[in-house]
Amino acid sequence: MLAAPPQTHSSSSQSNGHLDGHANEILIRLDADILPDGDFGHRVLEVTRAEIRVFDGDKLSTRIPISDLKSARNEPLVSGGRLEVILQSGALIPVVAYSMSVAAQFSEAARGVEQLIEGKPFSINQKTEKTRCEKCKRILPEKDGICPACINRTAALLRVGSYLEPYKAQAAWLAFLSIVTTVINLAPPTIQGALIDRVLEPRRDIGLLWQLIALWFFALAGAVVLQVVSARLTTWLAGQIATDLRAGVYRAVEFLELQFFDKKQVGQITSRITQDTDRVWGFLAEGLPFLLSNLLLVIGVLFLLFQVSWKLALAVMAPIPVVVFVGIYFWDHQSTLFQRVSSRWGRFHTHLNEALTGIRVVKAFAQEDYENQKFTRFNSQLKEAGIVADNYWHTIFGAMSFCTSLGALICWSVGGYFVFTGELTLGSFWRANAYLGLIYGPMQWFAQVNNWFSRAMAGAEKIFEVMDAKPEPYNRSGQKPEISGHVRFQNVRFGYDKSNPVLKNLDFEAKPGDFIGLVGKSGAGKSTTINLICRFYEPDAGALLVDGLDYREMDLQHWRRNIGIVLQEPFLFNGTIADNIAYGKPDASFEEIVAAARAAEAHAFILGKSDGYDSIVGERGGKLSGGERQRISIARAILHDPKILILDEATASVDVETEKQIQQAMKRLVEGRTTFAIAHRLATLRNATRLIVLDKGEIVESGTHAELMDKNGEFAKLVRTQSEINEIIGVTQ
Ligand code: ADP
Repeated sequence: MLAAPPQTHSSSSQSNGHLDGHANEILIRLDADILPDGDFGHRVLEVTRAEIRVFDGDKLSTRIPISDLKSARNEPLVSGGRLEVILQSGALIPVVAYSMSVAAQFSEAARGVEQLIEGKPFSINQKTEKTRCEKCKRILPEKDGICPACINRTAALLRVGSYLEPYKAQAAWLAFLSIVTTVINLAPPTIQGALIDRVLEPRRDIGLLWQLIALWFFALAGAVVLQVVSARLTTWLAGQIATDLRAGVYRAVEFLELQFFDKKQVGQITSRITQDTDRVWGFLAEGLPFLLSNLLLVIGVLFLLFQVSWKLALAVMAPIPVVVFVGIYFWDHQSTLFQRVSSRWGRFHTHLNEALTGIRVVKAFAQEDYENQKFTRFNSQLKEAGIVADNYWHTIFGAMSFCTSLGALICWSVGGYFVFTGELTLGSFWRANAYLGLIYGPMQWFAQVNNWFSRAMAGAEKIFEVMDAKPEPYNRSGQKPEISGHVRFQNVRFGYDKSNPVLKNLDFEAKPGDFIGLVGKSGAGKSTTINLICRFYEPDAGALLVDGLDYREMDLQHWRRNIGIVLQEPFLFNGTIADNIAYGKPDASFEEIVAAARAAEAHAFILGKSDGYDSIVGERGGKLSGGERQRISIARAILHDPKILILDEATASVDVETEKQIQQAMKRLVEGRTTFAIAHRLATLRNATRLIVLDKGEIVESGTHAELMDKNGEFAKLVRTQSEINEIIGVTQ
C-alpha cells in the first residue's frame, strides 16, 4: 500500500515560481502500473532537477522537492517494487509502486534521483529492454525480441519464398505434381458414383465393374507414386532452403557488431541457427505441402460438388464458415495458451540447466531440498499451463468435429431428400458424400497449420532479425595503408551505452615499438581501451589515429590483420597444434610454423607430444596445460607478425620455469612492435616505455614505472596494495 501524498510540501508550489526552464525540464517520465491501494492502474512519475511529481490520471497528487531529499531507493515487493525517498528529516516517503515488468526503469530512476540529490551529472540508462509487445502487450519470449503474434507472417513467408529463386525449376515441378495428385485423388469418388449409377443400380454390365475397379486401382497407385515423388522433392527443396538460411544467418552472425552479442546470450543466437531454421524447415517440408495440397483439394471438391448439384453444394457448405470462424476466433486465445506453455518450458529448462551445471554449489550449500522445491514449482506450473491449453484445444476441436458431423448430416438429409424425389441419382449422392469426406478431415487441421505457420514464421523473423542487424563496417570502403605502429588516442570518449561513458577524454600516444602498460583498478576501462584498439567498438567522440589516419578510414580487416592478441586465457580451436599456430596465416609453410614455435619456446614441448605438430589440442585446447596453451598463442601471434600487439596479462598462473620461457618468448614477440599490455601483476611492467594509469575511464597518471613510483601517486598506491595482497597470499599458502 502506498501512503497518501505527503502534505508537508505545499511550499514546493511557491518554489515553482523560481524554477528556470532548465530546472523544469523533465528528465524522467515513467508509467507506474500499481495504484496506492495495490491494484493495477496507471500513475505517472516525473522527475525534474527541482522535484519529483506523481500524477494520478491528470491530477498531480504528489510533489517532493529534490532539495528536501537525503536519498532514494527501490524497495522490492512481492511482484514488483516501490520507489521510496528519504527526507532530510529522516522520514520515509513511498512515491510510486510498480510491477516487475517495469522494475528496471524504476531502479534507474532511483539512481537518477540520487545523482540529482548529490548534485552529480545526471546520467542514467533510459533505454530499457522491452519485455512486452508494444502492440498486443503480450509478454515477449525474449527481452527486446519479436512478438510471435504480431509479426507480418505474409512478409516473412514471401522472404522465405525468395530463397526458392535458385530452385525455380524444381518448385515449378512440385506445383505441377501437386495439381496432378489432387486431380487423381478426386477420381475415386467419381468412379464410385459411376459404379453405383451404371452397374450396381441397374444390375448390368459386370464388365464395366471390373474396368472401373481397374481404373480405381491405377488412380490409387498413381496417387501413391506421385505423392512419394512430391514428398522427396519437397524434402530436397526444404533441405536446400534450410541450408541456405543457416548459411545466411551464420555468415551474418560472424560479421555482426559486438554490441549485438552484448545484448543477446550466446544460447539465443545459436538457437536461431539451429532451432529456428529447423522450425522453418519443418514447416516447409511438412506444413506447407499439407496446406497447399489440401487447399487444392478443397477447391477441386467445391468445383465438383457444384457440378453434382449446386443446391446440395450450398447446403453442405453451410457449416464451413462456422468451422473457419471457430478456428480463427478461438485460435487467438489458444495460441496465447500455447505460448504460455512454451515460455514455461523455457523457464523449466533454464532451471534444470542451472541446477545441474551448478550441482556442486547446490550440494556444497546443502540446498538440494530448496532446489527440489523450485523444480516442483516449475514442474507444476508447466503442468497447469499444459492442462489449460490442452483442455481448451479439446473443446475447440470438439466444436469443430461437431460442425464436421453436421456437414455429413446435412448431406444425408438434403441429398437423401433429393434422391427420394429423384432430383439426384444414388451414385451422384454417393459422390457428393465421398467428396465431403475428403475435405472435412483436413479442414479441422487448418487451425493447427495456422499455429505451425505462425511459429515457423516467427522463427523466420528471428533469423531475418539477425540477418538485418547492423554488421561491422566491413563494407565501408577503406584504405589499406602500410602501418608503422604509431597509435594516438585523441580525446576519445566511449560508452557501451552512449549515455554512460566508460572512457572519457582519453588522450595519449604510442610511438612505433613502444610498450604501453595499461594499469588501473578493475572496471577502470583497460579492456575497453583494448576493445577500441581492436575496433570491436568505435569511439563515440574523438578519434583513434594510426600513423595520423583516423582508423575508421581504414579497411576493417586490414586493420585487424595488423593486430595480434595474446590473452590471459588463450582460446585454441579444436584441431592440431600446427593449425592453431597458423590460425592467423592459414597459408604458412611448415617451416614458418616451426620457426614461430621455436621463437615462442614451444618447439621442445610440441616435439614431446606423441603426434608432434599434428597433436589434437582438444576443445578450447583442453588437452594442453595453461603454459603450453599460452606459448602456442604466442607462436600464433609471432607467425601472424602484427605491427600492433595486445597482451592481456600473458604470464599468469604458471610455474617459475615455464614463466621464464614465456618471458623469453614474449621478449622476442614484442620486439619491433607497438605493444599495449594489461598487466595485473604490476611488476611485469617494469620495462614498459610508459604506463597509463586509468581510473573511472580517465587517465590519472602516466610515465615510466620509476617515475610513477617516485611520484608516489595512484600507481604507487596500487603497487603497495598489490604487494600487501601478495604477502597475505604468501602467508596463507
Ligand atoms: P577493466 O578492464 O579495467 O577491468 P573494463 O574496460 O572491462 O574495465 O570495464 C569498464 C566499465 O565498462 C565497467 O564498468 C564495466 O562494467 C563496463 N563494461 C565492460 N564491458 C561491457 C559491455 N560489454 N557492456 C556494457 N558495459 C561493459
